[in-house]
Amino acid sequence: MSKRAAVAPGGLWGTMNRVLKFLRRGELMRPRPLLSALVGFLVATPVAASPLTVVATTSIVGDVVAAIGGDRVSVRVLFPIGTDPHAFEPTPRDLVALAQAEVVFASGAGLEETLAPILTSPEVQAKVVDLSAEVPLRTLEDEEGVDPHVWLDPTNVILWTRRIERALSAVDPAGAEEYAARAEAYRSALHDLDLWIQDQVAAIPADRRCLVVDHRALGYFAARYGFVEAGAIVPGFSTLAEPSARDLAALADQLRALSVPAVFVAPTFSPTLAQRLAADTGVRIAVLYLGTLTGPDGPAPTYLAMMRENVRRIVEALAG
Ligand SMILES: [Zn+2]
Repeated sequence: MSKRAAVAPGGLWGTMNRVLKFLRRGELMRPRPLLSALVGFLVATPVAASPLTVVATTSIVGDVVAAIGGDRVSVRVLFPIGTDPHAFEPTPRDLVALAQAEVVFASGAGLEETLAPILTSPEVQAKVVDLSAEVPLRTLEDEEGVDPHVWLDPTNVILWTRRIERALSAVDPAGAEEYAARAEAYRSALHDLDLWIQDQVAAIPADRRCLVVDHRALGYFAARYGFVEAGAIVPGFSTLAEPSARDLAALADQLRALSVPAVFVAPTFSPTLAQRLAADTGVRIAVLYLGTLTGPDGPAPTYLAMMRENVRRIVEALAG
C-alpha cells in the first residue's frame, strides 16, 4: 500500500546486514547459556533469574506484554512514545535490540511496514510473534491492504493476550502459571472495558454515530460499537499518504452533507490540515490517542486508560 520513499531499502538492508554480521561474531565469543548455568550450579551460588529480554514494536503492544509478563520480562519498546507508528524509522540500535531479543512482539497486519526486512530476516523471523495473526482482519473495497488498527477493539486485544501468554510460556516455562494468571486478569479488565464502552456509547443517538478520523483508524472500533466510519482526511489505513486538494474538498462536502459535528485526529496529525478543515466546514476537531500511548503524566499512559479517554472524548463530541 504505502510507498516509503524516505527509506532507501538498500541503506536499511546494508545497515542490518552489518549489524547481523557483528552479532554473529559476538555470538561465537559469548559464553554459552548452558555452560554458564553449569558453572553457576557447580559453584553453588544462588543466582537471581534475569528477566526475559523482549522487544515490543509499539507502546500499546509493550503495555499489554508488560501487563502479562510482569517482572519476569524486560520490555523494550521500539517506537518512541507520542510518535506516529506508520512513520517509524528504525535506527541501527533498534536493529541490534531486535537481533538480541528473546521474543519480538509485533502488532502485525502490516503496521510495521518499515521493519519488514528485519522482521522477516532468518535471524529474527523465528522469534517474532505477530499478535494479529488470529484477528479477523478488515479490508476496504476502495483501499489496498488490510486495516492494521486491530487494538482499537478491545476484544481483539483479548486475542493478543492468548498469543502473548503462549509465547512467553514457551521461552520461559517456569513462568507459565504466572503468565496465565496475569493474562486472565488482564482479559477480565478488557472484558470490563468492552462493557463500559458499550454503556458509554449508548448516550450517542444512532444517527450521530458517525466517525471521521485523520486516517482510517477506527474501523474495528466502529464495527464493534455500532458506528459508521464515514470518511478520513488522509485516504487509506496509513498516515503516510497525502490528501489532494480534491480529496479535501470532497471530504468537506461529505461533512456538510452528513452534518458531522466533529472530526477526530491523533496528536501526531498535521495541525495545519486539521485547522484548515475546521475553518472550511465549521466542524470541531477533537484529539484521540490512536497509535501510541502518552507518557506516564499524559491522558493515555496505558492501553486501558487510552481507550477510556478516547471513548469519553468521542461521547463528548458526538452525544450533543
Ligand atoms: Zn494508523
